[in-house]
Amino acid sequence: MRDSSMQVETEIERCVASGMCTLLAPEVFDQDEVTGQVVVLVKHPAEEQWEAVDEAVRSCPGQVVRFEQAAEPAGAAEPADAP
Ligand code: SF4
Repeated sequence: MRDSSMQVETEIERCVASGMCTLLAPEVFDQDEVTGQVVVLVKHPAEEQWEAVDEAVRSCPGQVVRFEQAAEPAGAAEPADAP
């Protein structure tokens, strides 16, 4: 079951800078101004963003983006984007 430990992972070396992820989930993904490769803005997206992230995962031509449960055991996860 999905919970707040869901996080965005990328294999940047496979990114072909298509921009699909930024188009589908602009609050979560951006692109590097020079290389065009993906930049993750929000590693732990809010639940209302999950559908857009899933769509970005499905649409990524390089299979760069994964959206998955954090590997750490429950309770060991870092606070979500806390300053
Ligand atoms: S959709 Fe995939 S290949 Fe395209 S910019 Fe995003 S991560 Fe890179």
